[in-house]
Amino acid sequence: MQDNKINGRSMDEWIAEHRIIADLVALKEVSWFNPGTKQFAETIFNIPFGGAEVQDAADRLERFSPYIAKVFPETAAANGHIESPVQEITAMKGVLEELFGQFLPGRLLAKCDSHLPISGSIKARGGIYEVLKHAEFLAVEAGLLALDDNYVVLDSDEFRSFFGKYSIAVGSTGNLGLSIGIMGAQLGFKVSVHMSADARQWKKDMLRSKGVNVLEYESDYSLAVAEGRKEAASDSSCYFVDDENSINLFMGYAVAAERLKEQFAELGIVVDADHPLFAYLPCGVGGGPGGVAFGLKLAFQDNVHCIFAEPTHSPAMLLGLYTGLHDGVSVQDFGIDNLTAADGLAVGRPSGFVGRTMHELLDGVYTVSDENLYRYLAMMADSEDLALEPSAVAGVPGIVRVLGDKEYLALHGLAGEMDRATHLVWCTGGSMVPEEEMRGYYERGRGMC
Ligand SMILES: *Cc1c(COP(=O)(O)O)cnc(C)c1O
Repeated sequence: MQDNKINGRSMDEWIAEHRIIADLVALKEVSWFNPGTKQFAETIFNIPFGGAEVQDAADRLERFSPYIAKVFPETAAANGHIESPVQEITAMKGVLEELFGQFLPGRLLAKCDSHLPISGSIKARGGIYEVLKHAEFLAVEAGLLALDDNYVVLDSDEFRSFFGKYSIAVGSTGNLGLSIGIMGAQLGFKVSVHMSADARQWKKDMLRSKGVNVLEYESDYSLAVAEGRKEAASDSSCYFVDDENSINLFMGYAVAAERLKEQFAELGIVVDADHPLFAYLPCGVGGGPGGVAFGLKLAFQDNVHCIFAEPTHSPAMLLGLYTGLHDGVSVQDFGIDNLTAADGLAVGRPSGFVGRTMHELLDGVYTVSDENLYRYLAMMADSEDLALEPSAVAGVPGIVRVLGDKEYLALHGLAGEMDRATHLVWCTGGSMVPEEEMRGYYERGRGMC
């Protein structure tokens, strides 16, 4: 099937040398734990940004918070912060113990980015942040806004017509388009969202209802991004949100961690050398989970262990990290189809920027089948009353994968700590899914339980 060489080797040679690639190609669920992790203090010196840049993003979001509270009243109670709750999911832990027939020590929590205001997914962090940053830059440069102004002034016809002279383009599997489109349209920008074939109809409909220009493609995410990039290159008033390479998106996501630290403090959850934290992050191109994981490393250093989760049909980041080829490899190179119900994770080629930044900071990547995603979705709905989209539950089995790998636990000296560990399932989207669509997901999952 594949005659082409992948980095100088045929597919058969790759498979012969790497058992895990044979399993990926066979679409089996796999867990890969990174043998190349380094201490945070050692790695951070090789990364060209750090805590100051994340703080700068947090400060910018703070400047915008009066405006956000005004135009998105659902954020007013949180003073215009776009933030989500953390909750313990003890009942779901019981369901997993029964399913896997084993006791699971430690605590299991969910970070409900599914319930982030404005756009109902983790993209409400990075996507909205990048639009705000661009808007601030334009307005300040034009002399219309000063950093110490009250940004509620942005909610005016004067500013809307100013931003109306500029456009924003983005390529997306759906949720990033939703975040960029909603925020961009609210400010007055002209927004074009280039949607891959995976994007759900309701996301396109919602964007069109807000006056966003939605362009649809038959192909996957990488092409949708390329089309967005092309549009922006031909128009100097057009700003391209580059999901594959954006430091701004990354910083917007990273802000999550300091806020999580405060939430943990309120809940009395300790993270230290004796109380490790494991975070399970659904991964598409990598920006969302990469940015959050980077923030978590800044907040908790070596006491947090970040693990990405991908669909068996789209193990892009796993292939990129494992082979070290990053964005030089795609799942399609290995004959893997990138067709998954987890539309937010349907990415065939990973972000090289994220892979290169995070390759020594990530503890591992595992894959989950679509059938199991549906199953976990139904279980989370039944046991915790959490409505999540298929992409959003990829973190659910993380605790089982970690506890099941003695070699990994030994490598990090964790074997004796697991009674005191906290496992955090980052639930990345779902609250905006229309009810009928959600019922379809749920029934599909129920049928498999
Ligand atoms: C986009 C998305 C992710 C992953 O984020 P990436 O930046 O693409 O890696 C995870 N879950 C949901 C619901 C998403 O929309």
